[in-house]
Amino acid sequence: MKTLYFITGSQDLYGEETLAQAERDGKEIAEYLSAQLKGIADVIACPIVRNSTEAEDICIKASADKDCIGTIFWMHTFSPAKMWIKALQANRKPMLHLHTQYNEKLPYSTIDMDFMNLNQSAHGDREFGFICTRLGIKREIIVGYYKHTSVINKIKAFAQAAVAVDFGKNLKLAMFGNNMRDVAVTDGDRVEAEIKYGWNVNYYGIGDLCDIINAVTADEVSVKMTEYHEKYTFTTDNTQAVEEQARYEIALEKFMQREKISAFTDTFEDLHGLKQLPGLSVQNLMAKGVGFGPEGDFKTAALAAVLYKMSEGRKGATGFMEDYTYDLTENEQLELGAHMLEVSPVFADTKPEIQVHPLGIGGKADPARLVFDGVKGDGIAVSLVDMGNRFRLICAEIELVKQPQAMPKLPVARLMWKIKPDFETGAAAWIYAGGAHHAVVSTALTADDIRLYAKLTDTELVVIDDKTDIAELETHLEMLDCIANMKK
Ligand code: MN
Repeated sequence: MKTLYFITGSQDLYGEETLAQAERDGKEIAEYLSAQLKGIADVIACPIVRNSTEAEDICIKASADKDCIGTIFWMHTFSPAKMWIKALQANRKPMLHLHTQYNEKLPYSTIDMDFMNLNQSAHGDREFGFICTRLGIKREIIVGYYKHTSVINKIKAFAQAAVAVDFGKNLKLAMFGNNMRDVAVTDGDRVEAEIKYGWNVNYYGIGDLCDIINAVTADEVSVKMTEYHEKYTFTTDNTQAVEEQARYEIALEKFMQREKISAFTDTFEDLHGLKQLPGLSVQNLMAKGVGFGPEGDFKTAALAAVLYKMSEGRKGATGFMEDYTYDLTENEQLELGAHMLEVSPVFADTKPEIQVHPLGIGGKADPARLVFDGVKGDGIAVSLVDMGNRFRLICAEIELVKQPQAMPKLPVARLMWKIKPDFETGAAAWIYAGGAHHAVVSTALTADDIRLYAKLTDTELVVIDDKTDIAELETHLEMLDCIANMKK
């Protein structure tokens, strides 16, 4: 299990008795949080920190601990902040400053100076906060009594973002083929992606996969077909085409296991040795949390895996999506998202059907794919683009809606959504910000989760929501360019 270090700050001034009490209180809070964060991370109480050496030691320990995904700081008493400088410089883990108290209520009838000495987070956390700000440290500040539901929910969101950051640091991604010829937004700096996020992105020849596909046995295919029958409705007699996809999925699973890979891309321009474009196989893998990006879009594939990880345990769906076409009926504009084949069945509102149809692009045999109508509800669309001197995340709030009419001739899975704050503003904002035609859509995560992820990874972020105004957005984008050029 991954861990969060809970670090309680104090100083030598108060005597052994007060310090022992402060340590016990910190331990109690850590244990409470640990129970609340069950399944996400264990919260480990650290010994009380009294001076610069202890502060630095615990942050060095946290930074070197591969299981540690983040650090939580809380100043129970006053804790002079110069003693935190070297510690904060050493801390390499996502950081939460929890501004809370051991006591919820003020004990009006008994409060005395001993109580004041022990319980002065209002004082100590401000001193600590100043040095974080002075050092330019990116951190999340959560304020409130630690047992309150709203506070716990925020701490959970921090922990899940920290899990996602940690997951990214160990993420290996395979690109079968390169990115689609001449496409700009799917391309990008793979070295920078590893420096910034830890994503290890490597090219593999499609032939490496074909060798495994050709060695798949009939028994293995039979097991996979049973899985498909359990999950999906077959509306095709072309069993052979479905079995072909089963072979792809089995081979991809073997390959990913062997190479410890959790996200991949492919491209219809490089399918040498494959009879079909992988469709059903990719879709079934996406539903298991495998990150996927088509046309060599490694950024979207990695982001899909990372955001899926962040959403674990929550209700809702997360996966790759492509902006495709619109219904431009005045004041009722809707967007239709889909792809040639690869839409994750986590988005299905109806039981997905396995269908086999020709594919206009790629010149291959008719591929099997899952077809369904998409879920409804509030969601976000998130795009990661390479601006040349930095990455930018764009997060748009959307409302997924029921498709107004059936689309009997459209043989792919699709989602429909309303753009916020309104169609004209939201679509223009996305395009001004440089948002891609590929995104990760999630009904499990919110814009606040993406804000947190952007903060913890120090990534530039543009949010498009109910408050978006084009004039303000354009100024904001210019400012972001200025800041990035200053940093260069
Ligand atoms: Mn595409």
